[in-house]
Amino acid sequence: MIKRLYPNLYLNSINEIDTVALKQEGIKGIIFDIDNTLVPYDVLDPTDEIISFFERLKSEGFQICLASNNTEDRVVRFNKGLKVFAIHKSGKPSTKSFKRALELMHLTSNQAVIVGDQIFTDVFGGNRANLKTILVKPVSEKDEWITKVKRGIERKVIAHYEKHNR
Ligand SMILES: [Mg+2]
Repeated sequence: MIKRLYPNLYLNSINEIDTVALKQEGIKGIIFDIDNTLVPYDVLDPTDEIISFFERLKSEGFQICLASNNTEDRVVRFNKGLKVFAIHKSGKPSTKSFKRALELMHLTSNQAVIVGDQIFTDVFGGNRANLKTILVKPVSEKDEWITKVKRGIERKVIAHYEKHNR
């Protein structure tokens, strides 16, 4: 059971994503969580860094889909400067939005990776949908209250994961 909470990779940030390695594994699409994965949850627009990062991914041939449990307003506004596929109110860890993301990108589950900062939504949901999963450290200490509650348990899972995977 606990393995379902383990990511395939645990990185400090999205900047450590090795796109060459992903390509070699047959990955063609990247699903990104937004809040605390790309920007803090109270930052409304993508930073220049995120914009150029996404441009690079696109030029390398990757398809991109945002999948956020946040509202339509949040996701549509954030995506304005990015223009990638986007799913709001994604209901992660439900597998529904991941299946939708694969449909949008015309990919199968073994061709995509989910990148997110939360074990119980991004990683657990991604594993259930048979995606490759990359956990990143949250970009900000600030969390919404419900997320804060989960961080304590997440720390325990991460400690367990690091003990058994390093
Ligand atoms: Mg998040």
